Amino acid sequence: MDIIYMDNNATTRVAPEVLDAMLPYLKDFYGNASSMHSFGGSVGREIAAAREKVAALINADPGEIIFTSCGTESDSTAINAAIRSNPEKKHIITTRVEHPAIKNMYEYLAKNGYRVTWVPVDKEGVLDLGYLYSHLSEDTAIVSVMWANNESGVIFPINEIAEKLRNKGIVFHSDAVQAVGKLPVDVKQTGLDMLSISGHKIHAPKGIGALYVKKGTKFSPFMIGGHQEKNRRGGTENVASIIGLGRAGELANNHLEEMNSRVRAMRDRLESGLLQNIPKALLNGKKDERLPNTSNISFEYIEGEAILLMMDQLGICASSGSACTSGSLEPSHVMRAMGVPFTAAHGSIRFSLSTYNTEKEVEFVVENLPQIIDRLRKMSPFWKEGACNLQ
Ligand code: PLP
Repeated sequence: MDIIYMDNNATTRVAPEVLDAMLPYLKDFYGNASSMHSFGGSVGREIAAAREKVAALINADPGEIIFTSCGTESDSTAINAAIRSNPEKKHIITTRVEHPAIKNMYEYLAKNGYRVTWVPVDKEGVLDLGYLYSHLSEDTAIVSVMWANNESGVIFPINEIAEKLRNKGIVFHSDAVQAVGKLPVDVKQTGLDMLSISGHKIHAPKGIGALYVKKGTKFSPFMIGGHQEKNRRGGTENVASIIGLGRAGELANNHLEEMNSRVRAMRDRLESGLLQNIPKALLNGKKDERLPNTSNISFEYIEGEAILLMMDQLGICASSGSACTSGSLEPSHVMRAMGVPFTAAHGSIRFSLSTYNTEKEVEFVVENLPQIIDRLRKMSPFWKEGACNLQ
């Protein structure tokens, strides 16, 4: 059975070009970049070249890029740097819909002496900017707002927030793990202080990420150890994965146009096909301000997990809630923050496409999902009751 992989916000396949670029650094060029001999030194030059490629993806200077192990480490590093560099400030701001990489760190800080402002979203997942701005104060150390939401795909106005925060002495960080490679991201134009990237969302392997730190931003390392990454992140470099991230960055840059044309068109066809052919199906997230690859649809009165299992039998991979919250039957914090009704939040499915998807795959899902939903609803006591009430 062929796999139809529509779960690219959870993780992506490693691009063959990325693997090819990495293999020599696993097989032959295993030297340590810190060594004095030229065998190691040549590896150092390749790391520098990869840094340039990752920098180019977001229009940063290479010296502003720190390689990390993942998006989560980049997020933790940014928050820690901001609060350690401003120890007198005890107020931090984020949104109600962040990935656990931010949410759980903020919850930890809330238990350890920090006052947290959680900025709400409306029912379309749009951020309440007035709420954010009215809570800024002299005591605010950091504002962290994701560039795009991993579940709904809704894009937040990072440029506008950066403009508002300019010259206020508040660190502005964005978790751009889902935005990079799907949207143009230009840190120079935006002017934010720190930004997180994860390799495995852009066809590099798992276990590699990057943090952009604007030149001049006060910084203290999270991983304290050797002098690697100019003393900003200790630990011998994950050479092959760094080379892979560099190549993935180049590919992502080249594919941005396709992502916003062909992939967007496939996503729109999938969405309209499902919404038209399935009764009581609702789109979660503002229609026009979403990532081009993401569609989150609720099928009322059935469990998302049951839908996933039946899709799995046809080889279709998607997610209910975020990848990290799947496995728990609680509706995700994102769906709850958006006020999606309980009967709909439970049956929410996220489809997330990549340039590897085909129009044929989309048609297969549009043809087969209505029958799956129909079969599950026939088994659901809630559906009969709901259908009576609603028709
Ligand atoms: N931030 C967002 C928005 C994500 O979607 C994810 C992963 O799903 C992460 C952070 C964490 O990235 P990583 O898995 O590389 O730690």
